[in-house]
Amino acid sequence: MLLGPPGAGKGTQAKSFSSAVGVVHISTGDILREEVKVNSALGTEAKGYMDRGALVPDELVTKMLSLRLQREDVKKGFLLDGYPRNIAQAGTLDGILKGIRANIDIVFYLDASEPVIIQRLTGRLVCSKCGANFHIKNMPPKVDMLCDNCGSKLYQRSDDNVDTIKTRLKVYLKETTSLIEYYQKKGILTRINADGDADVVLREMISLAEKIHDPHKV
Ligand code: AMP
Repeated sequence: MLLGPPGAGKGTQAKSFSSAVGVVHISTGDILREEVKVNSALGTEAKGYMDRGALVPDELVTKMLSLRLQREDVKKGFLLDGYPRNIAQAGTLDGILKGIRANIDIVFYLDASEPVIIQRLTGRLVCSKCGANFHIKNMPPKVDMLCDNCGSKLYQRSDDNVDTIKTRLKVYLKETTSLIEYYQKKGILTRINADGDADVVLREMISLAEKIHDPHKV
């Protein structure tokens, strides 16, 4: 599981980590954005909350996640990103996981500071097709506004503006601090400093995951 404020690099790390380790990346934010894109009933209901930087009501997100976790590809392992956002969702997740006889081995808490977060999010570019992340300054695409991986158009998320970012951070702090304690108590949380280089963070995550599956590895 990935925890951390918006802009900590969860999306970027999730994509690299899941392909390096061979697990599926499940992002509730990505699933919701897809629903908005296709104008589904769920997407229409969720859009207003997302544009304000508020959380989409638990029952909508939970039902959606529960369906996603029933799929076959989850059996080889998965990286959960964006869920849970609060203690109620953590309890719900425990129930869903029990139902599919799965459990969370490790929680990566990507910790980043506010100035770094704002700089990252206001310059973030996302691929409209494959979801890859770029940055106007830190990680520009090779061709202006086109994805390096699949050539599709890049866009700026409508919630990546300073005002909405500040609201998202407030929501995050209010709701997520208790989650950190929840997973700390379970003894599965590892804090990683995510202000620095993305490659360093990724290496640390992969090495921690390898240790879990092979505890003799140093
Ligand atoms: P993210 O891509 O994780 O930053 O999520 C974008 C937006 O989707 C959030 O600001 C929320 O509005 C919504 N969202 C994503 N995951 C959840 C969740 N677990 N619970 C409620 N809302 C969520």
